[in-house]
Amino acid sequence: MGPSGFSRQDWPSAHADSWHLSLWQTFFCSTLGEPIPVLVPLPTQSHPGATCGCNKFLLDLHGDHTSTCKSHSGATKAHDWMVTQLSPLFGTTGHKVKTQGITPSSGLKRGDIEIINYLSDSAGSRNLVIDLSITHDRHGSSSAHPHLNGTLSHPDSPDTPLNEAAKRKDNKYRNTYINHHSISFLPAITSTSSRIHGEFLRLLFLQAHRETENYFAFMDTPAQPNQTHFVFRRAAFYSSLKSKVGLIAAKAAALRINMNTDSCLVASRTASRRLASSHATSLLHSSLSHHLPRPQPFPHLT
Ligand SMILES: [Zn+2]
Repeated sequence: MGPSGFSRQDWPSAHADSWHLSLWQTFFCSTLGEPIPVLVPLPTQSHPGATCGCNKFLLDLHGDHTSTCKSHSGATKAHDWMVTQLSPLFGTTGHKVKTQGITPSSGLKRGDIEIINYLSDSAGSRNLVIDLSITHDRHGSSSAHPHLNGTLSHPDSPDTPLNEAAKRKDNKYRNTYINHHSISFLPAITSTSSRIHGEFLRLLFLQAHRETENYFAFMDTPAQPNQTHFVFRRAAFYSSLKSKVGLIAAKAAALRINMNTDSCLVASRTASRRLASSHATSLLHSSLSHHLPRPQPFPHLT
């Protein structure tokens, strides 16, 4: 767990992917607890009129309702966009990654991502099913205790919202997937302030370890996992994965708010960046570049 998984020095000097300035403002203002610029011009509680897409709450200036409401269309779109961004991260080691046609659990629920033959034990290979959830640090949708909306849900333990969201996913999926002998389940939880849950981080570390093994095999220089250059290379892969997930989570959190206030769809002009057909190619790209987009102003401001 930990704070945002990305930092300024991780950003490359040029990248085709971009953030709209309004998304960047939304993420930082929400994280800092400041009024969000795209919400400020809207009618508010004192000037009633702007209601959430769920038709049950008025929009607040800090995005707390929008970030906790599950009914408006932005919530689903931001979640689904994040799934499409996360899934390629697990394809760099040659595993097939599915976001459609996920094997259903015994309760006929389906996770978001299925990585084929990702795990193995003495009984053979197992698929890993991941289900993504984005949690929020403040109350925003309490009708029983409306005075709590806008306040931190766990002021003394910032990881609790992540842990509780993971527990909900486990209750929903883990027991129902338990009868599938070829599938394991893992919750993937991030917060709107871009914190990452421990289980998800451990999965990223496993992926970084495998990327490192593949990298040395690909470069034809076999390395033992306890060798210094293996450990340094793995740290670079792990840092890169955390940075990518942190930035994806930040953008998804901002999209969730902005898509509920206007019809601003995924802002990236090149969101559907073509995936390399060879996993070796994408692995090499991953080892050479963080591929992190920088915030950029609208074209008319440049
Ligand atoms: Zn709502």
